[in-house]
Amino acid sequence: MLNIDGSYGEGGGQVLRSALGLSLATGTPFQIENIRAGRARPGLLRQHLAAVRTAAAVGRAEVSGDSLGSRALSFAPRALVAGEHHAAIGSAGSAMLVVQAVLPALLVADAPTRLVVEGGTHNPSAPPFDFIASTFGPLLARMGARVRVTLERPGFYPAGGGRVVVEVEPAPLGPLVLVERGAVRSIRARAVVSGLSTRIAHRELHVLRERFGLARDALVCEEIEDPVGPGNVVHVEVVCEHVTETFTAFGEKRVRAEEVATAVADEAQAWIDRDVPVGEHLADQLLLPLALAARAGARGAGPRDGGRFRTGPVTLHTTTNAEVIARFLDVRFTFEPSGEGTLVSCA
Ligand code: AMP
Repeated sequence: MLNIDGSYGEGGGQVLRSALGLSLATGTPFQIENIRAGRARPGLLRQHLAAVRTAAAVGRAEVSGDSLGSRALSFAPRALVAGEHHAAIGSAGSAMLVVQAVLPALLVADAPTRLVVEGGTHNPSAPPFDFIASTFGPLLARMGARVRVTLERPGFYPAGGGRVVVEVEPAPLGPLVLVERGAVRSIRARAVVSGLSTRIAHRELHVLRERFGLARDALVCEEIEDPVGPGNVVHVEVVCEHVTETFTAFGEKRVRAEEVATAVADEAQAWIDRDVPVGEHLADQLLLPLALAARAGARGAGPRDGGRFRTGPVTLHTTTNAEVIARFLDVRFTFEPSGEGTLVSCA
């Protein structure tokens, strides 16, 4: 039984989610203490509890400590069960983070899975659906994964009500090499409103249009039909030769639409200016697939090589995730300065 300290490094939910995913993928039981000790509301929130319960169903696991607010948990998987799974968060908690917790296991299962998750699909401090669909998913596919994500209905904080379907056909992962971004080919902007005036989305798109000199067909304004609750999200997608990055900002009460759009434009511009292919969030999320690819290589008598990518300054999320992964898998991450950024390798 591995002991994980949830207060380690970043001390957030990612420590728990990576532990769940890797416990399932490797069949290693673990216990975790100090869950989310680094957060204002520590312990298991609904979204983390949903991740634990979904992981337990996927791994037919024996679990203790799986209650709201719990700061300690033990998790012992018995067998990977592919097939149909369904998770309802019961709040606007991020459905995408529930997906993040079980995806490693679904990638290495011995049969396809269809997972339906209900909750928030566009949440601050979590990967929005569009980031998974346009940025993370295509890179997983490049590594050999067969994953399809479908947004059946968006869900925003605080009402939730979103629904996402993830279909995974297991396939061995190969290494990813992503060290150059390549030229910027196009920039697209998309503003979505739910239960709010489309004027908000148009104002956001106007800012982005001016800022990046976008043509009209690079702008999408979407109004959600039959909204469950209010919400506004704006994405900037930067399509480059070797990668597509997705940047996101959320409308908030008392924050002008122009400010929301400017924030996401600044983030996208900073990434473009830095000339590294992998942005901050993508960096911490790529570690797990790289580690699974390294393991698949070693098992298939190939080299233990998960590949490498270049990113900006390494975040605490990234170093924390690397440490958690190394507890479960016999892989090593190295971080070396490289040009304007950091080269992250996994072997
Ligand atoms: P934690 O803070 O430990 O719950 O982890 C949050 C996860 O959400 C990390 O994997 C982040 O990379 C990811 N994340 C947060 N914000 C974004 C964003 N704007 N786009 C993509 N991923 C994000």
